[in-house]
Amino acid sequence: MGVSYHLFRKAVKGADCIPFVLPFRPCPLNLDKEPFRMITYPAARQGSPVYQDSLPFFDFGEEMISVLTPNMNYADLKDSYLFFRIAQKTRAYLEQHPGTHLYRMGIGDVSLPLAPAVIAALHSAVDDQAARDSFHGYMPECGAPFLRETIAAYYGKRGISVEPDEVFVSSGASDELGDLLDLFDRSSPALVMEPAYPAYVDANIMAGRKILRLPSGPENCFLPLPEDGIDADLIYLCSPNNPTGAAYNRDQLSRWVRWANERGAVILFDAAYEAFIEEDLPHSIFEIPGAKTCAVEICSLSKTAGFTGTRLGYTVIPKALVRDEMSLNAMWVRNRTTKTNGVSYIIQKGGAAVFTEEGQAQIRANIRIYKENARVLMSALDETGIRYWGGRNAPYIWMACPDGLGSWDFFDRLLNEIQVVGTPGEGFGACGEGFFRFSTFGDPADTREAADRLKNLLKTM
Ligand code: PLP
Repeated sequence: MGVSYHLFRKAVKGADCIPFVLPFRPCPLNLDKEPFRMITYPAARQGSPVYQDSLPFFDFGEEMISVLTPNMNYADLKDSYLFFRIAQKTRAYLEQHPGTHLYRMGIGDVSLPLAPAVIAALHSAVDDQAARDSFHGYMPECGAPFLRETIAAYYGKRGISVEPDEVFVSSGASDELGDLLDLFDRSSPALVMEPAYPAYVDANIMAGRKILRLPSGPENCFLPLPEDGIDADLIYLCSPNNPTGAAYNRDQLSRWVRWANERGAVILFDAAYEAFIEEDLPHSIFEIPGAKTCAVEICSLSKTAGFTGTRLGYTVIPKALVRDEMSLNAMWVRNRTTKTNGVSYIIQKGGAAVFTEEGQAQIRANIRIYKENARVLMSALDETGIRYWGGRNAPYIWMACPDGLGSWDFFDRLLNEIQVVGTPGEGFGACGEGFFRFSTFGDPADTREAADRLKNLLKTM
């Protein structure tokens, strides 16, 4: 019995449960041959009736109610998100070992509070909202002029000319990485270099875009370069990289910029960790000649200034970036003015304080503490002779698992034997298997103890 509709619901009159039959993916359904799954839920939760004439349905000869077709691309997402599985495993461990202290170096969340200059600006902005004369209602959708100017000046100090109206204030890089996909046709394939921050892949799967994966490894120091035959229109570059900590130099980035301009592709450059660079490496793709005609830069104050819970980022879209006579900057203005009502005045005031002299000195002091964590971990690993990458220009250390262990097996050993929680490399793409990520955002005393435990365990392996 073949039917051409990819989703249908068979409602059984009077039953306690409504059965759904869903094929695994959109396809002409043949119930005799295709795999399918049955989901039931209580009839009491079935909600409003949906009218079948506007939606696909299948007549089984009994009463049928058709339903809206969800975005079936979600069925292609991997079952469990990396950090969810880590949380499940650590919760299970703590249930079996109540009261045990865990050394958490898994999730890349900051542990130090906001800088005093930011806190003062936030307080003062709250007071502004208390008085009629200084009160702010809706903010401009693309960002308050004071913050757009401040960020443009931050680029200017580094010798990069960016206009304030090329800067878009956002609620963080994650939001932007997904939302920006609105600018591109779904038929444009995206290239993701792996190991990669998982949101790149998932946002593109949700959008139904074809994803090409460019694996990297120790042979290219996790910094892949353009190759013949890469057939992608959108390219994600993350430098310094999460999870590997690798950062591109000028020559390498120039090769990507040249490649993108020649092909008419667009680079989505994730600079969330630029503030951690300590060697002479580019902090922005716009340091590279030609980048303004082929790149968008996505930045975040999350790691730079401890805004993971406060939420603020910015995106730079040069006016010179044009495809098919469409200005991506103008398109993004249209997008933001339609889909957002801007970031709160208070948070933008707090964000602007990050770029003051005082704010910069204070956030640098915090970054130095995370960098010291990285040095502690790196010197412990140096004593074991194990191979690792990152740590110098990024808050992540990426190590090869010892003895050819799988990354989840190594995770289990660290959790069970030394109570250290890290992140299995497999969660960042298939080529991450056999590697392991440590975040250096933890508490310094915890990091010292964890480094010691790690060194001692690795010496026995
Ligand atoms: N990009 C990368 C590479 C990240 O690692 C993260 C967070 O871990 C983000 C973006 C998200 O940043 P935000 O907190 O601004 O959403």
